[in-house]
Amino acid sequence: MQSRETSADLWHQKPYYSLDAWCKNTYGRKLYKAALDIGCTCPNRDGTLDTRGCIFCSAGGSGDFAASRQLSVTDQLNQAKALLSSKWTPEPGKPSLIAYFQAYTNTYGDPDRLLSCYEEALSSPEVAGISIATRPDCLSDIILEGLNRLRLRYPDRFIWIELGLQSIHDHTAARIRRGYPTSVFYDAAAKLHARKLPFIVHLILGLPGETQLDLQESIRAVNQVHPFGVKLQLLHILKGTDLALLYESGKLPVLTQEEYLDLLISCIAALSPDICLHRITGDGPRKLLIAPQWSLSKRNVLNRLHALMKQRNLRQGDKIEK
Ligand code: SF4
Repeated sequence: MQSRETSADLWHQKPYYSLDAWCKNTYGRKLYKAALDIGCTCPNRDGTLDTRGCIFCSAGGSGDFAASRQLSVTDQLNQAKALLSSKWTPEPGKPSLIAYFQAYTNTYGDPDRLLSCYEEALSSPEVAGISIATRPDCLSDIILEGLNRLRLRYPDRFIWIELGLQSIHDHTAARIRRGYPTSVFYDAAAKLHARKLPFIVHLILGLPGETQLDLQESIRAVNQVHPFGVKLQLLHILKGTDLALLYESGKLPVLTQEEYLDLLISCIAALSPDICLHRITGDGPRKLLIAPQWSLSKRNVLNRLHALMKQRNLRQGDKIEK
């Protein structure tokens, strides 16, 4: 395990290993996400498994910040570049975009079309790599082999797969209508490891019925599977979701900021220090967010997190449970 001094340098003075630190260590600069929508759907939406989606999922399929699906990948990337122009100027030989295939399930559909969308992004000179949001039950062998070919064809680009796990517990999965058993996640993780495709696991904090112990068990399981990264996301209650109905009926308590930070700190402290934290809070789209409203002030949440971790003298990996 790294010493505190080494990790302080590698983590750029944060008490955890952030995506930002990974980008600076790997590229010597910040990378920017371009959220894309390539017109996918989801088996939990199109009737294959269900039509209602996960209970927290908005009509935009968790891609509420993505560009228009009417545009090509190249046009969506150009649009993202224009939006980023106040903070980033493209420089030849310095790709700085992460093409984030975000909306719905981005490995679900015609494999040829999907693979050509990934390749369109990978071949853009401004793209450092791509990140593909999906479900572990939507990683067919054809897609995995295609991704493996792209990995070999573009060795100076990265390809990440983001798996919406949310919880390791099947009882929670049933409650949130995730639509696949956790065993499928373990199978997918093994297939991705076998093909050297780095993956990022999404977990949600504050899911209905989940205890702190449930969450710790999810972190322990993630440590064992050992992905490249983890996204820890606060449960957002968004307009038009079944979760919103539950909340409005008074049956769903939401976390206060202090409760969330306590849970988050216990997760970070229990997470293996070499797993990169790609997200530790999450941005609920302002126009859709019902609760918790305090989450809109992301800067404030992060400042409070850093202050509390300092006060408690805690860093990522300090409390790993075996
Ligand atoms: S798997 Fe993703 S896109 Fe599909 S319903 Fe659940 S959150 Fe939405």
